[in-house]
Parts: sequence; C-alpha cells; structure tokens
Amino acid sequence: MVGVFLEGDSPLLHSQVFCIPFGVGADPDTYIYMNFMKSHSCYDAMPRSSKLVIFDTTLQVKKAFFALVANGVRAAPLWDSKLQCFVGMLTITDFINILHRYYKSPLVQIYELEEHKIETWREIYLQYSVNRLISIKPESSLFDAIYSLLKNKIHRLPVIDPASGNVLHILTHKRILKFLHIFGSMIPKPRFLQKQINEVPIGTFREIATIQESASVYEALAIFVERRVSALPVVNEQVLALYSRFDVINLAAQKNYNNLNMTMKEALTSRSCWVEGVLKCYPHETLEAIIDRIAKAEVHRLVLVDKEDVVRGIVSLSDILQALVLSPAGIDALYS
Ligand code: ADP
Ligand code: ADP
Ligand code: AMP
Repeated sequence: MVGVFLEGDSPLLHSQVFCIPFGVGADPDTYIYMNFMKSHSCYDAMPRSSKLVIFDTTLQVKKAFFALVANGVRAAPLWDSKLQCFVGMLTITDFINILHRYYKSPLVQIYELEEHKIETWREIYLQYSVNRLISIKPESSLFDAIYSLLKNKIHRLPVIDPASGNVLHILTHKRILKFLHIFGSMIPKPRFLQKQINEVPIGTFREIATIQESASVYEALAIFVERRVSALPVVNEQVLALYSRFDVINLAAQKNYNNLNMTMKEALTSRSCWVEGVLKCYPHETLEAIIDRIAKAEVHRLVLVDKEDVVRGIVSLSDILQALVLSPAGIDALYS
C-alpha cells in the first residue's frame, strides 16, 4: 500500500503526485480524507430532493439545450426508449462540441443543431468518445465516485438505483466537496491543510490554457475541445475574468449561437448569470483557505495568480480530490 507525500517541487513548475510506501514513516493525517470518502456512500452525499431532467434520445438536440436552460440544470441523462435504459448524458460539453464542429459563419444556420436528434448526434460523436453511460450505485462509496469522475474525465455521475433502474441524483465534484466541507468538521483536521499551496503540488502550474478578451467565442470553444479544460482565464497581461464551459450555455439562453465571431468581451458582458470578478488564490495561501474559498463560492476552480495578477496556475476540484482522496491510496486517476 502506498501513501501520498504532500511535499515536493514548486507547484509553479509542475503538478505531480509523490507516493511513499505506507508504514515507512507516513503521516497518518494523509489518510483522513481517503478514509472519510471510503466510509461514506453516494447516498450520504445526495440532497433530500433535487430537480432531475431526463431526455429521450429522439428529442432534437436544439430543444434539449433549450430545455437545460429553461430548467436551470447543467446536464441530463439520456433515455433510449427502444432499449428501455439510460444510454448516456447530455452536457454543456456536447453543446460546445456541436457548435465547434458545425459552425461556419454568422450567415449560415447550423443545420445539424437545428435538425439533428440526440440519437443522430450520438451516432456521429460516440465513435470518438465514451459510448456508454458511466453511473454508480447509491451504496457505492464516495471514494469510488471520485475515482470514476476523475478516471473517466467527466463532471456528471448519475447515481442509479439498481432495483428500479431510476436515476436518483447526478453527483458532481462540487457536491462531494460540499459534503466534505460540512461533515469534515466532525473529523480531525489534517495538519497538511496548513501548508501553503506553493509547498504542495496540488493543481496545474504549466501550459495554462488562457484566452484574450479580444479573441472570438469560436476560439474559446476550440480551446475547450482541443485542450479539454473546463475553464479559461480571460487575460491581457493580467487575469480579467473567467469563461467556463458552463458559460457557453448562455449562447443557447440568448439564442446567439449563430454568431460565434463575437468577442470574449461581448460574451462575458452578455452573461445572464455569473460570478462577480475572478475567484483567485495566491501561492502563499494555505490549502485550508483555498478549499474554504472554493467550497463557499461553489465554483469548480480558483485561478492561481502572482502579486501582479498574472495567471500562474489552476487549482480545480479535480486536483483537490485527486490529492486528498486518491493519491493517499496510490491512485493517479487525473494525470494518467
Ligand atoms: P460538462 O463539464 O460540460 O458538464 P462533462 O465533462 O461531464 O461535461 O462531459 C464530457 C463528455 O462526457 C460529454 O460528451 C458528456 O456527454 C459525456 N459524459 C458526461 N458524463 C457522463 C457519464 N456519466 N456517462 C457517459 N458519458 C458522460
Ligand atoms: P459547473 O458547476 O458546471 O462546474 P463552473 O463552476 O465552471 O460550473 O461555473 C459556474 C459559474 O461560475 C460560471 O459562470 C463561471 O464563469 C463562474 N466561475 C467558475 N469559476 C470561477 C472563478 N474561479 N472565478 C470567477 N468565476 C468563476
Ligand atoms: P477540471 O476539468 O477543471 O476538473 O480539471 C481537470 C484538470 O485540468 C485539472 O488538473 C486542472 O488543474 C486542469 N485545468 C483546468 N483548467 C485548466 C486550464 N485552463 N489550463 C490548464 N489546465 C487546466
């Protein structure tokens, strides 16, 4: 068995996981969060009630994205009525992929978005990506849920009741961190939380994907597709804003997805719902302060900046869950 060594090179150079053999002087604090997640089930982290929207795969893709907006949800499980089972998910990433693949110019309607059914889109897209539904049972541990989210590089994990086949909830990194944040106060606080982020390699600290304010929305979509990152700091010299995959749904809400030549500046100012400013962190801040900020703000990441507000890294929930929960078990799901 192996454990994580939370000290290492400067995170400003790279993100990496260092493992040392368990029992050879490993700090028992290292395993606190791993054990917490192993001893709680997905059921424990589920809210008593929440909204769930399900799409039949024969629905038109455009109507599906409008329905996500109308219902204020970020993703929906897909039901295949011929197979009588759930076959996948529809997320904002799918909207991004469709726009990026088929957009031509503001003068040409995106036929595939207007006319395709979800099943038609899936036939094309699934040749290149995950082609089955990744789900989890309510009684499975949160440790397994985190492993599945990180290993499969997805952000939505449906919890399915094996007896009825019903989707009970869609688990996310945010929900799991919130659960830890609330109930973590009942377990001893690991001492490594007092370490500064520049002492622990948690995050990505090189080749950060960013975008200029003057760039087009199409360019942002291309980066989302090619780099598979969940958000882009918008920069000139300094960080000005943050554009996340979630923000792309505004194009459906405002029905302006036919003009992807608009600038990032225009797209940012026309967002109907957004977080004020950029949620940032600094290299000297402690892991505890960073986890606190990310949990309270309910965002998926913080942008690591230096004194001049220049982007130096990204500390995402995926990085935090990898380091706190999977690395102590000797598992590297995120960076492999
Ligand atoms: P987003 O961050 O936009 O919500 P994800 O990162 O979760 O999107 O999704 C990435 C891709 O993986 C999308 O094509 C989505 O349909 C697919 N996907 C997401 N969750 C699942 C899942 N649980 N099972 C199968 N495919 C999924
Ligand atoms: P999701 O719940 O789909 O993971 P995100 O957390 O990526 O969504 O984004 C939700 C909203 O919060 C978006 O409007 C996004 O721009 C904003 N947001 C996310 N992270 C930050 C951040 N670090 N600074 C400012 N705004 C952020
Ligand atoms: P996420 O998709 O945010 O859950 O993160 C998956 C991995 O991508 C994490 O290691 C993040 O630190 C990293 N990441 C997220 N956004 C960016 C970005 N803009 N540039 C480089 N890496 C990123």
